[in-house]
Amino acid sequence: MTGIPLSAPDITQAEIDAVTAVLRTNRLSLGPELEAFEAGMAAYHGVRGAVAVSSGTAGLHLALLALGIGEGCEVIVPSFTFVAVANAVHYVGATPVFVDIDPVTLNLDPVLIELAITPRTRAILVVHTFGVPAEMDRIRQIAERHSLAVIEDACEAIGAEYDSRKAGSFGDLAVFGFYPNKQITTGEGGCVLTRDPNLAERLRSLRNHGRSAQRALTAEDDHGSAANSTRFEHVEIGYNYRLSELASALGRVQLSRIDEILSFRRASAERYQALLGEIPGIELPPTSLPRRSISWFVYVVRLGSTPEGGERPSALRDRVQAALASHGIATARYFAPIHLQPAWSSDPAARGLRLLHTEAIAARTLALPFFNRITSNQQEQVAEALSAAIEELWFLTRPTVS
Ligand SMILES: *Cc1c(COP(=O)(O)O)cnc(C)c1O
Repeated sequence: MTGIPLSAPDITQAEIDAVTAVLRTNRLSLGPELEAFEAGMAAYHGVRGAVAVSSGTAGLHLALLALGIGEGCEVIVPSFTFVAVANAVHYVGATPVFVDIDPVTLNLDPVLIELAITPRTRAILVVHTFGVPAEMDRIRQIAERHSLAVIEDACEAIGAEYDSRKAGSFGDLAVFGFYPNKQITTGEGGCVLTRDPNLAERLRSLRNHGRSAQRALTAEDDHGSAANSTRFEHVEIGYNYRLSELASALGRVQLSRIDEILSFRRASAERYQALLGEIPGIELPPTSLPRRSISWFVYVVRLGSTPEGGERPSALRDRVQAALASHGIATARYFAPIHLQPAWSSDPAARGLRLLHTEAIAARTLALPFFNRITSNQQEQVAEALSAAIEELWFLTRPTVS
C-alpha cells in the first residue's frame, strides 16, 4: 500500500524546461526570470510593485522593515497561524499583539482588532487563513481610523478574492510564500507587493545587501557591462533575501498555470465535501462565504467532541491522526496556536494569554491530504479511513453505561 502525502508539488514538463533553460545560461541570479516572475505577480494582482524574495518569512521581515517598524512598536497578529508571522515581528524588535479569530472564517476578528489597539500600535498584520480572505473593508477602515499600516499575509491565499479584488491588493504591503505545500511553488521563495514606489525601492535594496536602489536591481556588474563605481555601495544594512533565476523560472511557469491549479483544487475540495458530508461528528470547512472567493490552500476539518464524559478534543484528534497514519495517510494539525508554542509561551506577549476561539478550534483541527494532483481514489481512501477511525474511537471512548 502506498501512502497518501499531506501535500505534493505539481511540476510539469514546462517547469522542468524553464529551469533547465536557466542552467544553460550564465545568469543564475538577478536576471530576466526574476523580472518576468515579478512582472507576472504584479500583473496578476494589479499592483505595480512586486519584489520577489527568498521566502515568505523574508517577505514579512522586509515588509515590517520597509515600514520602519521596530522597537517599541506593536503589531496586531493572529495566533491561529504559522509561527513565522510572530517571528518576523520579533526580528525587527517589535511586539506582536495576539488577537483572537472569527470562528467561521478563522481570520482576525475586526471587533477584537480594534479593542487591541494602543498608542504603540503601528500595523495590523492580517493573514488570509487557509486561503479564505479576511474582512478587508472593515480592517482597512479600522487602520485608517487609527492611522495604522496594513500588511496582508497572503502566503496561503494567492488567487483568493474579497469583493472581487485579489487578496494581496488591499494592504500597504502584501506578502506571498511559495514553499512546496503552497498553491504554487518556487521550491523556496516569496514575493512582496506594494503600490508605493518608495516602499518597493526600499524592499529591493533591503533584499540585496542594502545596495542603492539602482544597483540592487541588476547584476550588470557581474557581467562587466557597467561601471563598477557603485557595486559596493551599501546605503544601509540589508540582507540577502534574493530569489534565484532557477526559482524565479519555476515560479513564472507555475503562475502561468494558476487558473488551472486553483480550479483543480476547488474541485478537490468539493469532492471532499461530498465524500465527508455524511460522516457524523466532523465539521467541514465552508466552501462559500459571502463576498469571498476561496483559494484552496489546505483542506481542514474540525472533529467533534466525543460523547459526554469522553476524551478532550485534542486527544481525540490525535487518535484520529494516528489511526489515519496507520493506513499511510498523512495529516497535520493546522494550526497549533503561536502563543502556546514552546518558543513563544513564556514571552511577555504570550504569557497567560487566553484566546478562546483560537484554542478551542486548534484543538479540533485536522488537515487532510490535499494537493493539485490528488486523485478521487485517494480522496475516497481518506474518507473511508476517516469514517472508520471516528466510528471506532467514538465507540471506544464512549462512557460506559451502568
Ligand atoms: C507559508 C506561510 C508563510 C511563509 O513561509 P515560508 O516557509 O517562510 O515561505 C508565512 N505565513 C503564513 C501564514 C504561511 O502559511
